[in-house]
Amino acid sequence: MGYETRTQAIYEINNREPIPVGPPSRLEDIWAADVFSLSKMKQCLPKAVFKSLKKTIQTGQPLDFSVADIVASAMKDWAIAKGAAYYAHVFYPMTNLTAEKHDGFVSIQADGSAIAEFSGKLLVQGEPDGSSFPNGGIRSTFEARGYTAWDVTSPAYLMETENGVTLCIPTVFVSWTGEALDKKTPLLRSIGAMNKAATRVLKILGHTDVAPVNSSCGPEQEYFLVDAHFANSRPDLLLAGRTLFGKPPAKGQQFDDHYFGAIPERVQVFMQDVEKRMYRLGIPAKTRHNEVAPGQFEIAPIFEAANVASDHQQLIMTLLRQTAKKHGFVCLLHEKPFAGINGSGKHVNWSVGNATQGNLLDPGDSPHENAQFLVFCAAVIRGVHKYGPLMRAVIANASNDHRLGANEAPPAIMSVYLGSQLEELFNQIASGEISDNYSHSGKLEFDIDTLPPLAKDAGDRNRTSPFAFTGNRFEFRAVGSSQSVSGPLIALNTMLADSLSFIGDLLESELEKGADINAAVLTALKEIMDKHSAVIFGGDGYSAQWHKMAVEERGLANLPTTADALPVLQEKYIEELFQRTGVLSPVELESRYEVYSEQYILSIEVEAKLAIDMAKTSIYPAAMRHLAQMSQTVASLDGMGIQLDRDNLKTVADLTNSMMSKVAQLSSALAKDDFGSTEEHMKYSANTLRPLMDSIREDADALEAEVADDLWPLPTYQEMLFIK
Ligand code: ADP
Ligand code: MG
Repeated sequence: MGYETRTQAIYEINNREPIPVGPPSRLEDIWAADVFSLSKMKQCLPKAVFKSLKKTIQTGQPLDFSVADIVASAMKDWAIAKGAAYYAHVFYPMTNLTAEKHDGFVSIQADGSAIAEFSGKLLVQGEPDGSSFPNGGIRSTFEARGYTAWDVTSPAYLMETENGVTLCIPTVFVSWTGEALDKKTPLLRSIGAMNKAATRVLKILGHTDVAPVNSSCGPEQEYFLVDAHFANSRPDLLLAGRTLFGKPPAKGQQFDDHYFGAIPERVQVFMQDVEKRMYRLGIPAKTRHNEVAPGQFEIAPIFEAANVASDHQQLIMTLLRQTAKKHGFVCLLHEKPFAGINGSGKHVNWSVGNATQGNLLDPGDSPHENAQFLVFCAAVIRGVHKYGPLMRAVIANASNDHRLGANEAPPAIMSVYLGSQLEELFNQIASGEISDNYSHSGKLEFDIDTLPPLAKDAGDRNRTSPFAFTGNRFEFRAVGSSQSVSGPLIALNTMLADSLSFIGDLLESELEKGADINAAVLTALKEIMDKHSAVIFGGDGYSAQWHKMAVEERGLANLPTTADALPVLQEKYIEELFQRTGVLSPVELESRYEVYSEQYILSIEVEAKLAIDMAKTSIYPAAMRHLAQMSQTVASLDGMGIQLDRDNLKTVADLTNSMMSKVAQLSSALAKDDFGSTEEHMKYSANTLRPLMDSIREDADALEAEVADDLWPLPTYQEMLFIK
């Protein structure tokens, strides 16, 4: 490694041709070609079987085995015809990753011959040896059994890699005692809980025909692309997904045109390739470049049902990584791969709705829809106020901590942005004075049948809010780019379910007292505003005043690090929320806390060890070589009576000494292992290890500015960000 590797990398990149991806395909020809979709099932299944399956999909009931056998056989025939020899139960453990267990279709018969076989039982249920997946103490490792079960609401698909084609079946992953070990199970439960509460409220509001209510999600994924030649020479990018060292490039620096030449083409070809693969998998991609940081891009599919969107989001991350590799890139999904350069988020656009009433977070065109919208919107406001700390906790991990509150991403304080018109209307409801703009008679007359339509003001945006209303949905902007969207969706659906139950109770009790529905709705809205309006904020979320005001005047929680946020999962009111809604049992919640806190501690420790390694074995030797070479010249010129400036030598020597003494401090800090509790351990990682790493980095980055470039061992920010 070193300068030669760096120049060699640049040479290779400059001579690289974009990988041909073949002629563009017609969307109609490739759309969902690799998905065993409802329409394919309709074609190949007997009518009665298809009907039964469709019902299962719509109601979420378990599939009965006689139907499963026929579905499995049709699925197998379809997959084998398309080249698959293996099938895999795909599941989503408590990491942000996707896991798969592969099995062959092969079945040996009594006479020794082999046939391709796939029974309903194998489709519906799998038994991976899950002992190495985190379970937070639910399953002891000697009891390795965990079960996967097909989630019929998410279609099976074919995954093509260089090693062949695999039939992938999206599944839930539970322990043998039935506890959730994954992210899908609670997501499905949260949708169920929300559906139940929403249906009840819709019925109270007078609807008789109410289809199942589901939540929708449209995730916007940001990522960086770095040429593999560079990434492979950076141990930090390979092991931690982010640079632990690196001086930001000088502003206005002139870069060789040569370097720039290839950027759009190679990246565009990569994007076309990703899109094509997404279309084949029925993922409605819509790509666009992102100009925020050099080397940073974004891809956003059109929104889908939360459960499918979540599976597709996991697939998108896999496809981005795989396809990048094929094109000679490394795709970085880390929230903050480069210090001082904009980080990456994953905006989770979320709404709830059904086939009969449509999007319930859309103000709609009629007064009645408006009032209904206000009820659902108020339910969200209450949810964010009561459970804001939970929203912070579900997006807490070591990497997102680098981004939240860093004045480019939303703060670690949860608040709601409504837009000026909606905020004003809610304020008027709170004060009991609804102006002419909203009410025909000017005074507290809030007739859900006569409320004039709300103008849609989707253009009214606030980029500094962690959770913003954007016309017909909320956008949870604090979610990190590497994270599964399931956690955030579980929190949003669950808190909405809780708020809607509260509203349902309140409306019913008002109606029992003799109030009409208009008065009852108004009472509910006013009550929510009285108690929860503190969470509504339309100003600058980055400002210091807000941070002070949010905490001191409004009583909102500011949880800057994961060490502050994760313990929220242990609070009684959170346990009760999940238990009441049936989304997570106390044991399941506790296990999640254990897994996530362990992951947090581990990832900081891995980074700390890596920082020590890199400082000692790459940066220190480079500085020493620099000193040796330069001091030799200084000494020999001295002998000739020529005096050279020694400032650089002194600076490099001082920085090297300082860096190495901090390395020694971090090494001994890492040795500590007598922690009284997990919380204490997390706090130590956040408040002792992280700052020590940062201070080593300060010296190392200052050295990068002093040491001869041809001695510097690591690809620089400038190279990684600008050379494609
Ligand atoms: P932005 O202006 O935030 O960059 P984009 O249009 O790029 O917006 O992305 C917005 C995302 O929100 C897309 O995935 C889009 O499909 C999704 N979206 C649109 N309407 C809804 C909705 N009602 N519910 C959930 N997601 C939605
Ligand atoms: Mg957005």
